[in-house]
Amino acid sequence: IRILGIESSCDETAAAVVVNGRDVRSNIISSQIDIHTLYGGVVPEIASRKHIERVSQVVEKALEDAQMTLDDIDAVGVTYGPGLIGPLLVGVSAAKAIAWAKDLPLVGVHHIEGHISANYIENKELEPPFGCLIVSGGHTHLVLVKDYGEYEILGKTCDDAAGEAFDKVARAIGLGYPGGPKIDKVSREGDADAIVFPQGKVRGSEYDFSFSGLKSAVLNYLNECHMKREEICVPDVAASFQKAVVDVLVSHAMRAVEEFHFRKFAIAGGVASNSALRHAMEQACQERGVAFYRPSPILCTDNAAMIGAAAYYDYRKGIRSDWSLNAIPNLRLGER
Ligand code: ATP
Ligand code: MG
Ligand code: FE
Repeated sequence: IRILGIESSCDETAAAVVVNGRDVRSNIISSQIDIHTLYGGVVPEIASRKHIERVSQVVEKALEDAQMTLDDIDAVGVTYGPGLIGPLLVGVSAAKAIAWAKDLPLVGVHHIEGHISANYIENKELEPPFGCLIVSGGHTHLVLVKDYGEYEILGKTCDDAAGEAFDKVARAIGLGYPGGPKIDKVSREGDADAIVFPQGKVRGSEYDFSFSGLKSAVLNYLNECHMKREEICVPDVAASFQKAVVDVLVSHAMRAVEEFHFRKFAIAGGVASNSALRHAMEQACQERGVAFYRPSPILCTDNAAMIGAAAYYDYRKGIRSDWSLNAIPNLRLGER
């Protein structure tokens, strides 16, 4: 089964051809980062317009790289939520148009299910059940992947997402947008033990997260330095903040590993490309004899190969979307 995947939920216009869910024949990503950097974050209206300008070319390039035409495609998979309404609508409309014109089945895909499915691409042997930590720009979910398309959410963030915290702290220390990769890089020159930032306590599930307290602690620290006219060591602040995030992510994940006796554990989403998190998770899993999975960085951040992979497992279950498929900005994992 050859699936054309389309993704446009935020600021990447992406298309990919994926065969049988795991064999990526092409993976085209047109990022708008340079445009949104000017504004310090994603401007939804600009993002929508750029998606409109680029989506056709991106799809054509994906087919060309895969050495296929639309006649070789068996189904179209597209992200229909969660994400920004305007950007999502562009992808959904493009996918519908292609499916209608070529009389192909249409499969609406949950963006976070896509992030999780990125793990199938490079690990042909990985099958559910496994534990998964999804850490992205808008989500921080600790999930039990029971089966393809079947998830139990064990914990999630009560406020900011992990990626959002990276982006906000990066802005506060003058690193600019997008913050995650910049904090990752500059942290390598910093001392992660230089400043102790308190970890957020949460009511609710012991697997829930909170990052807004940590963000405030960083802002307070910066203000204090400013008032005392002390110089701020950006690499130390970045490294100490990053350590606080990684520590809480790993400790929650490992508590779940122990309670649920996971033999396999995966990470997913943009923050899963963070080098400190990858390293710490790998070590923690190794110590417990748990197989650890993580996508290559290019498959962690938004892409359409992961959408093609997720669409395949939906397709196999007989899931089809009809022409009423609409963008759903706040679609929840496990919902259709
Ligand atoms: P969602 O998937 O929740 O809808 P999104 O699609 O905007 O949100 P992703 O593309 O999955 O998010 O990830 C982007 C986020 O990942 C940004 O917040 C970015 O700062 C963060 N990120 C990317 N690379 C790194 C890194 N190396 N270290 C930490 N964070 C990173
Ligand atoms: Mg993005
Ligand atoms: Fe994403």
